[in-house]
Amino acid sequence: MYIQFLGTGAGQPSKSRNVSSLALKLLDEINEVWLFDCGEGTQNRILETSIRPRKVSKIFITHLHGDHIFGLPGFLSSRSFQGNEEQTDITIYGPTGIRQFVLTSLKVSGSRLPYRIHFQEFEVDQVSKVLETDKFTVFADKLDHTIPCVGYRVMQKDLEGTLDAEALRRAGVPFGPLFGRIKNGENVVLEDGTEIVASDYISPPRPGKIVTILGDTRKCYASVRLGVNADVLVHEATYGKGDERIARKHGHSTNIEAALVAKDAGAKRLLLNHISPRFLSKDISQLRKDASGIFEQVHIVKDLEEVEV
Ligand SMILES: [Zn+2]
Repeated sequence: MYIQFLGTGAGQPSKSRNVSSLALKLLDEINEVWLFDCGEGTQNRILETSIRPRKVSKIFITHLHGDHIFGLPGFLSSRSFQGNEEQTDITIYGPTGIRQFVLTSLKVSGSRLPYRIHFQEFEVDQVSKVLETDKFTVFADKLDHTIPCVGYRVMQKDLEGTLDAEALRRAGVPFGPLFGRIKNGENVVLEDGTEIVASDYISPPRPGKIVTILGDTRKCYASVRLGVNADVLVHEATYGKGDERIARKHGHSTNIEAALVAKDAGAKRLLLNHISPRFLSKDISQLRKDASGIFEQVHIVKDLEEVEV
């Protein structure tokens, strides 16, 4: 599973950072890509990646500020121009109002899509589990921004243990249907009377990954809750060290506050995005350095950067 950052800037695009969007690439797991936010120009960024828009099956919106949603009408329209490829439905998750925004934009522009959009709107005060499939569960929780805003916690379900085929072969199990039965946890007896105990040949289940992707927020407890034990925590850092007061005023966080959240949550890695255009490259290394004093595994992401989870 990979995260590819499509836009890592705050508020407005700059030459090096587009506005918010990232792709959670679950191609090996379920052959799908999930987008989180879709700022203006997201479709242009996608053109620079190997992501095929048709593979985007779900879009999760954190809040309705323009720099997080203005790319939706364009992306959704272009997604239908996929040559002869099969048209697949898409589901958009987000705070109440997202449905009206999308449908109004498509309607007044006369856009007709050859696939269906499903909406899962929620009130941010009441939101909890937004999706459960056989492989993933996604939770949302209310953050502390200037308008209703959530963060998402994507939890992969534990992965089945794998069968040690080589050990089975050494134990004299003939390759064939017996392998399948043992894989399903069944103990079997071979023709020579040897008993094969399935659990001896199956590795224990591996814990699934946890990815936490937060929207814009002041430092708050919900961020910590969403990020508990996360393999990767994606957190905004609109401001730098010492700007705590102004960050609070505008509903955002500093790099230091993000690092404190990662530390409190016991996250394994912290990726900072939503970087203000006023930061120059020398400021970026300072932002990282300051945050690493609190949480060492921190990295400031760039547009198009891909991170393995
Ligand atoms: Zn915002």
